[in-house]
Amino acid sequence: MAKLVSLLISARRQRLIALVMGLAIFALLLSATSFLALGELRRFMAAESQAALAPFARIRTDLDETFGAIAAEVTATPCTADFLTQLRRVGFRPDGFSEFFYAPGGTVRCSLSVAGRQKPLALGTPDIAPSAVSNSSIWVDRGLSFAGLKGLVGSIVLRGDFAIVVPPQKPLISMPPWLQYEVVLTGNDDRYWHRAGEVQVFDGYKISQGPRAPTIPTTVRSLACDGFQRYCVATEVIPAAFAMAARTYILAALLFLALASAGLAVWGKAAIVRRWSFEQRFRRHLDASSVLCVYQPIIAVGTGEVVGCEVLARWRDVDDSIVYPDRFIPVVERFGLTEKFTRLVVERAFAELSASIPTDRRLKLTVNIFPRDLDSELLVDIFKVFDPIRDRVDIVVELVESDEIAVDVAQRQIEALRAAGIKTYIDDFGTGYSNIHNLAALAVDGVKLDRAFAMAPEGSLMARMLGHAIDMIHASGRAIVIEGVETAERLEDLRRVVPPIDFAQGYHISRPLDIGRFTDFLAAEEPRRLRLDLAA
Ligand code: C2E
Ligand code: CA
Ligand code: CA
Repeated sequence: MAKLVSLLISARRQRLIALVMGLAIFALLLSATSFLALGELRRFMAAESQAALAPFARIRTDLDETFGAIAAEVTATPCTADFLTQLRRVGFRPDGFSEFFYAPGGTVRCSLSVAGRQKPLALGTPDIAPSAVSNSSIWVDRGLSFAGLKGLVGSIVLRGDFAIVVPPQKPLISMPPWLQYEVVLTGNDDRYWHRAGEVQVFDGYKISQGPRAPTIPTTVRSLACDGFQRYCVATEVIPAAFAMAARTYILAALLFLALASAGLAVWGKAAIVRRWSFEQRFRRHLDASSVLCVYQPIIAVGTGEVVGCEVLARWRDVDDSIVYPDRFIPVVERFGLTEKFTRLVVERAFAELSASIPTDRRLKLTVNIFPRDLDSELLVDIFKVFDPIRDRVDIVVELVESDEIAVDVAQRQIEALRAAGIKTYIDDFGTGYSNIHNLAALAVDGVKLDRAFAMAPEGSLMARMLGHAIDMIHASGRAIVIEGVETAERLEDLRRVVPPIDFAQGYHISRPLDIGRFTDFLAAEEPRRLRLDLAA
C-alpha cells in the first residue's frame, strides 16, 4: 500500500499514471463499445437470417396444406383416370407444387406427368427418414426422369401414400455485401444439402463450434434454423468488407472514445493529485504517530558543556519517507493546525525525553512555536505535560517576530509566560522583522542570532553587525545563542568574542539527533568536553 501511495505522489509518476489510466480507460471503453456493437451486429444478423429462412420455412406450411388438399379431394380409386384428374386439380393450386406421385410404401405406382399406370418404381431408402419433427420421408435432389420429367431434379416428400415433388427453390435473398450466408437443408444425421447462398459458410460455422475451432475467432458467425430444424441459415461477416462499410462510424467512435478517455484520465489524475497532494496527505495523517522529533544539542560556549537541545519536528509521510519542516510548516499555518501541531511535538518530546534523559542533570529544552500561538494560557496548557519532570527541564519557546501580533500584546504574553516559568527567545534574529531597533521594546529572555551571523566571514558587514548586536543584547541582560556553527574555526572565533556569546548550536557541534542518539550524545559528553577544552 505504502509503495502504491509513494508511486502516486511523485509528480513525474502522476503523468505516467495519467497516461496508463488513459490507455486503460480507452481499452475499457473500447471493449464495452465493441461488446454493445457486437450485440447490435448479432441482432442484425438474426433478422437477416430470419428473412433468408422465410421462403424455405414456407415450404413446410405449403406441403401441409397440399397434403391436406390431397387427402380431402383425391378420393377416387388410386391411379384411375378420375384419381389423376382429382390429383391434377390439386396440382393447379398456386403453391409451386405441380407433380405428385401415388407411392404407397415408397413405391411409385402412378404420377401426374406419366399419367396412367406405370411400372412400379421403388424410391429406395429416403435421405431423410421420418422423425420426431416430421412424419415425411424425403429424397433430396433426385433426377425425375423416371417420372417423365427428363432432365429435371426435385426433392420428393412422401407422407402416407402420396408424395409431392418440391422443385429447387431460388428465392431472392438480399444481404449487405459484408455478410455471407448459406441456407442448408439438414437431415436427421449430420448430412445437409446446400440450398442457397455461398457454399462453405455452414461448414465454417460448424467448424467454429467444433473442437477444431480457432481459440480466437476471426469473424462473427451465426446460425438460425426454422422451428423444425430442417432449414438452417448460417451467416458470416467478412471483416474487411465490414470495416470498409462501417469506416465512418468506426472512426467516429474511436475518436469519441479517445477524447472521452483522455478527459477521464485528466480528471482522474486531478482527483489523485487532489487526494494525494502533500497538503491533503499531511492534513489526513497528522497525528501522534506521524509527528516525530529530533533534538539538536546546544552547548555553553564558555565550557563546551551541553546545556540542552532544540526540538525540531519532522513528519513521517504515508510512504514512510521523512519530511522536513520547510515543507510542512507552511501547511500547518495555512490550515490553522498550529496549536494541534505544537501539542503533538511537545507531547512526543515529553514521551521520548522523560523516558531517556539522565535524571541527574538539568536541560534547557527549546521548542519552536508559531507567532499566532503566543498566548500564555494556551502555551502553559500545552507544556503542562512536562510537569512531572519540570524540576529537570527549563522550557524555552522560540518564536520569530511577525506582524501577526502587536508588540504590547506580545509583551503581556511574554511576561505571563515568564511568570509561569517558560522563557521566550527571539529566533532568527537579524532577519525578517527582527532588528536591533525593536529588540529593545520586547521583553524576551534571550535572542538567537540567525545562522547568517555564525558563518559570516571576518570583516564582512554581517560580522560587524554581529559585534554590534552582541553588544546591544548583552547590555540588555539577555541570553545570546548563536546557531548554524558549522566549523571548529568558527566556534573558536565565537569563543573569543567579547562580550561573550552564551550558547551555540550547529552542525559542528551536532546535527539534530533522534532520541536514541541524543541520549548517547549526552552520555559521551565528558570526553568531548575535554576535547573542546583542550582545543581552547
Ligand atoms: P530553526 O528554528 O531556525 O531551526 C534550525 C534549523 O537549522 C533546523 O532546520 C536545523 O536542522 C538547521 N541547522 C542546525 N544546525 C545547522 C548548521 O550548522 N548549518 C545549517 N545550515 N543548518 C543548521 P530544520 O530542522 O529543517 O528546521 C527548519 C525550521 O523549521 C526551523 O528553523 C523552525 O523555524 C521550523 N521548525 C522546526 N520544527 C518546528 C516545530 O516543532 N515547530 C515550529 N513552529 N517550527 C518548527
Ligand atoms: Ca528555532
Ligand atoms: Ca533559527
